[in-house]
Amino acid sequence: MNTYARLPVAFTRGEGVWLWDEQGKRYLDAVAGVAVNGLGHAHPKLAQAICEQAKTLIHTSNLYQIPKQERLGAKLAQLAGMDKVFFCNSGAEANEAAIKLARLYGHNKGIDTPAIIVMEKSFHGRTMATLTATGSRKVQAGFEPLVSGFVRVPYNDIASINQIAGHNKNIVAILVEPVQGEGGIQIPPPSYLQELRRICDSHGWLLMLDEVQTGIGRTGSMFAFQQTGITPDVMTLAKSLGSGVPIGACLAKGIAAEVFKPGNHGSTFGGNPLACAAALATLAAVEEQNLCQQAAEIGALIRDGLNNQLAGTAGVVGVRGAGLMIGVELDRPCGDLVKLALAQGLIINVTAVSVVRLLPPLVMKRDEAQQVVDMLAPLIKDFLAQK
Ligand SMILES: *Cc1c(COP(=O)(O)O)cnc(C)c1O
Repeated sequence: MNTYARLPVAFTRGEGVWLWDEQGKRYLDAVAGVAVNGLGHAHPKLAQAICEQAKTLIHTSNLYQIPKQERLGAKLAQLAGMDKVFFCNSGAEANEAAIKLARLYGHNKGIDTPAIIVMEKSFHGRTMATLTATGSRKVQAGFEPLVSGFVRVPYNDIASINQIAGHNKNIVAILVEPVQGEGGIQIPPPSYLQELRRICDSHGWLLMLDEVQTGIGRTGSMFAFQQTGITPDVMTLAKSLGSGVPIGACLAKGIAAEVFKPGNHGSTFGGNPLACAAALATLAAVEEQNLCQQAAEIGALIRDGLNNQLAGTAGVVGVRGAGLMIGVELDRPCGDLVKLALAQGLIINVTAVSVVRLLPPLVMKRDEAQQVVDMLAPLIKDFLAQK
């Protein structure tokens, strides 16, 4: 169906941070399949793990025990300091699980119409509940009636949450991205999540972090929340968890980990051996290759490079980022930059109308990062000079 405004290019092969199209033209990939290909393209150990699993067993269903899923669950729980994991196949599904968990948590407490606090400019997916949770009219328009049970507040605004806490007895959880991705790389101070943690504790609400885009090393630590000193009650993952093999996860801790009972939730494909093999190989590579630290270093290098080359350029509002989640905000719509970059062999993204977004593979090296800077800065300057 006509659901995508696709660019006129088809990639046929990739290696590391590079992609080749049908004509054999080479591109430097600074988007990584929208934060999915953290290991870059054709990572040998990932390919090997997928091949071996495909030759052994791809799927049995969750009617039976799945040792690979148990291993992955234990590994994720250990890395995140969480207790239990539910596996699904996408970010939207992971957030659906979190939303259902929060509602059931509320009902168990005798709250018949539980509500979840969500943020303006957030993105949580395209299913009915997750598009309702999403803070974008563009995503919601035409799909009314929306799902009830959500209360929206501005991002990075503690006062409005305290105000709601004073009178709304139906609130059971806060769902929030540690860094807003689709919203334009919005980065709150660490005190934001710390305050949210404190508010949730004092009201008995669940703090639910959507780390679908920020998770698995993207912001310079395995999970973005680890830079704030707090732990959430619920965390969702997807995008780079399987490096391109679809898998999502909803992790929970403490009381939140005990909410679901057999029959409350499920998925046919979720946590199948193939997807779990890909995720286990992904986590192993991120740890062995020290990719969290690399994301922090390379991200800083790109931000510094762009800041240097764009300093004093009229029309550049600012360069910001956390690890390899980088935004360059301009003072005007800049969607056209995507095609201009593509023509030069550089893959970038634009989100929130006027923010150039970079989500490079975590395996990007210094010289490749320098190439991104050296290609992108002049493109932005020319674009701004012409308009
Ligand atoms: C991409 C994204 C989603 C949705 O993930 P899908 O796999 O496309 O369903 C949800 N939340 C955030 C923060 C995302 O970036």
